[in-house]
Amino acid sequence: MAMTGSELRQRFLDYFTRHGHTVVRSSPLVPAQDPTLLFTNAGMVQFKSVFLGEEQRDYKRAATAQKCVRAGGKHNDLENVGRTARHHTFFEMLGNFSFGDYFKDEAIEFCWELLTGELGLPKDRLKATVFTDDDEAFELWKKHAGLSDDRILRLGEEDNFWSMGDTGPCGPCSEVHFHQGDHIPCAEEQAGRKCLGPACECDRWLEIWNLVFMQYNRDASGKMTPLPKPSIDTGMGLERIAAVIQGKSSNYDTDLLRPLISHVERLAGKRYGADAEHDVSMRVIADHARAATFLITDGVMPSNEWRGYVLRRIMRRAMRHGRMVGLVEPFLWDVTKTVVEILGTAYPEIVEAQGRVAAAVQQEEERFAATLDLGMAKIDEYIRTHGRSVQVDAPARDPVRAASEARGAVGPAPTSKVVDGQFLFTLYDTHGFPTDLATEVFEEKGWTVPKEAMEKYDAEMEAQRARARAGASFGGATDGEGSVEIYRQLSAQLPKPEFLGYTEMATPARILALVAGGRRLTEASQGQTVEVILDRTPAYAESGGQMGDTGAITGRDGQGTIEDTYYRGGHLIVHRVRVIQGHLRENQEVAVSVESRRRQGLKLHHTGTHLLHAALRRILGTHVAQAGSLVAPDHLRFDFSHGASVKDSEVAKVEDLVNEHVQANIVVTPAEMDLNAALQSGAMALFGEKYGDRVRVIRIGDFSTELCGGTHLEATGQIGLFKVVAEGAVAAGVRRIEAVTGEAALRHVGQEEAALRESAGLLKIPPLELPQRLQKLLDEQKQLEKQLRELEARVAKGRAQELAASAKVVGGVSVLSARLDGLDAEGLRSVMDTLRERMSSGVIVLGSAMDGKVTLIASVSKDLTKRIQAGKLVQETAPLVGGKGGGRPDLAQGGGPDASRLDEALARVPGLIERWGAV
Ligand code: ATP
Ligand code: MG
Repeated sequence: MAMTGSELRQRFLDYFTRHGHTVVRSSPLVPAQDPTLLFTNAGMVQFKSVFLGEEQRDYKRAATAQKCVRAGGKHNDLENVGRTARHHTFFEMLGNFSFGDYFKDEAIEFCWELLTGELGLPKDRLKATVFTDDDEAFELWKKHAGLSDDRILRLGEEDNFWSMGDTGPCGPCSEVHFHQGDHIPCAEEQAGRKCLGPACECDRWLEIWNLVFMQYNRDASGKMTPLPKPSIDTGMGLERIAAVIQGKSSNYDTDLLRPLISHVERLAGKRYGADAEHDVSMRVIADHARAATFLITDGVMPSNEWRGYVLRRIMRRAMRHGRMVGLVEPFLWDVTKTVVEILGTAYPEIVEAQGRVAAAVQQEEERFAATLDLGMAKIDEYIRTHGRSVQVDAPARDPVRAASEARGAVGPAPTSKVVDGQFLFTLYDTHGFPTDLATEVFEEKGWTVPKEAMEKYDAEMEAQRARARAGASFGGATDGEGSVEIYRQLSAQLPKPEFLGYTEMATPARILALVAGGRRLTEASQGQTVEVILDRTPAYAESGGQMGDTGAITGRDGQGTIEDTYYRGGHLIVHRVRVIQGHLRENQEVAVSVESRRRQGLKLHHTGTHLLHAALRRILGTHVAQAGSLVAPDHLRFDFSHGASVKDSEVAKVEDLVNEHVQANIVVTPAEMDLNAALQSGAMALFGEKYGDRVRVIRIGDFSTELCGGTHLEATGQIGLFKVVAEGAVAAGVRRIEAVTGEAALRHVGQEEAALRESAGLLKIPPLELPQRLQKLLDEQKQLEKQLRELEARVAKGRAQELAASAKVVGGVSVLSARLDGLDAEGLRSVMDTLRERMSSGVIVLGSAMDGKVTLIASVSKDLTKRIQAGKLVQETAPLVGGKGGGRPDLAQGGGPDASRLDEALARVPGLIERWGAV
């Protein structure tokens, strides 16, 4: 068998190790160094600051196998997936890097030697491309590869010039292409033109490796000056080189992906290769299962924003393709297991995250299932009713054509099937069906979604928002929807209030505006609740999980209580104030103060939260990321990503570690710095939050560094004591810890202690002996219950004798039906056994009510089962007690919840026998 994908990855890294490179681990898919980048999309991402000269490493040559996702942003291959043989959303990029060390000469030599020497690719199936005027690279390909002139193509800027951004490092690139064969379809050729070879979008000449020569620095004016130390960045898709080495013309046929397709084949009961459309779906599912697994592992969760939305889109697209191959039940979570089987050795993090990944995927599948089915049905209906007038049915899209169209290589097929924007809007607004998914479905069916449709969609959306605003302003609420519009206006008019609360607890201030019922007031009087905006304030507005401050506001002729503080209109700090005396007026000078006890509680629990976060990451691992947080004056709640359940011993360790840092009384130091400096100093950034340029960083010694705008203690010792009061799951892969600090912690411990003392008092033993004693009591109780059941059975057996005597003869058959309350099924059966021994021929039905539950047992002696069946007897009687049952002709059991009709059920038995049993 040819080399496996894993062997290939290793061969690549080994080759470059032998040539003086340091192997560096793949960085996560969520780029830590670049909060503006959607996902890591190339090997160079983790080395950006090294290339820029901002950071020094102790190596000048590196090699990596880097996890990459290209499903949005600048590099978006999402729509290519499934349709081309070479594109994935998730793929591995093999790369070698030189940071001002070697340059073009060695880069080309390494590349050629590895491909043709090490991996044995035939020279005559390879071609190289260089940038138009890069004669140097052209000559080096001739020198190292001995390629003739016609096997080195010169391509323009679009293909062969790379830059890091609008400014900064840039330079020409050079690619290596492999000839897969002219039998592979080419859209150009199908359109009557010539295949463009390596420059063509088809898969005949497959791009396998791209070498970037970082040679210039581009300034803001566009001028390029040579870099003093040019660098090398290369990237080769592992899946592509694996396909070439394994003699496959599709990445999906390699051992890196084919087992995933097989998994889908098994689930769907369909064969890959039997139906072109199904094949596309199977490839999409295989690809998207990988992307979902790796993204969730790296901390992305499906949501409606940014990274989370791209992940959600990927999963929903996979689900839709699942439906297309007949998979209705959640399936994608199951496919992620095969992803772990294939790639778990190379990326152990996915093994660790396995449970969390499967749970998150399954949950998303369950959540979207109904929406998907309804939306698809609506689309089908739309197509049926609106597509009828069209004469020619446009052919289903063929993959090559679709891929070329996506790039604008050929025009779309002529069609008059045009989607209306109103329909897309209703689909989204009423049924929650995502518009991008709907667009994709329509396009696949040969419909177009024109620009006008999207404009109409946007207009509907805007009208909808306006309706919401208008409707809400009638509400007259002091906060919430009604005030959206007024605060939009105010935030444009008023300056940003100054927040003094990091250092001050009281300050003079001026009232800038008073708002109530969505309208501005000039004054508010006693008894009224208004929202007050001040030019400066010590009150903290709720954010970052920390609740808003309360306090007081006092003017010359009036006074109010601040009940809460929050942001409105983006940056306006709003105080909800109840006027308790006199008046408060716009423009008036007032004194504002914050209630210090409550604030102190908030500080305790906020600093406590940081300690908890840091401790969780030490004890459970650095995959722990904040998923939600509440900082209240008397407790804290912290949600975090973690796949497994948290053991009691782990909770104890976390608690201990926090308390150690409380006792060490570490100084808490806030600092302002710019975001880059903050991230470089190792501060934990919370993904999904947006940071301005200047950020605040809270450091607690070496233990914790977090970006945070909240209010904190001066030193950890003030916490006194930290106690976890609850731990549990809130969603798949997300755990929650509730904890208390300071006085609240002491109160909690006090309450627990009182309960212990009281329990111990009841047993008249010292509290520490409680666990042992309780265990003993529980054991004894179990023993007693067992004895009781045995006794009851014995008593019942005794009664069996009496009962047997009470049998009646109905239609020539001995019939006994009796009620024996207080027996469970087992007890009834043992009585039944005794009765059966005594009555050689006959029918017995026993019923019992116990703990509000009825059990029925019926027995028919063998000589009678032709006419009377026990199963039928139970079927006829159990419904009376609100239940059901059944069994063999000679013995059956049933029951139900309604004990009040048990007598009626038993009384029915003779009648039934008469009906069935009459000879
Ligand atoms: P293509 O034109 O085929 O989309 P590209 O020019 O976008 O490729 P680069 O950005 O140069 O590719 O990335 C370097 C290498 O990574 C490529 O030569 C290829 O082997 C691999 N690669 C790029 N995009 C993908 C993808 N979506 N799926 C799999 N491999 C990829
Ligand atoms: Mg590309």
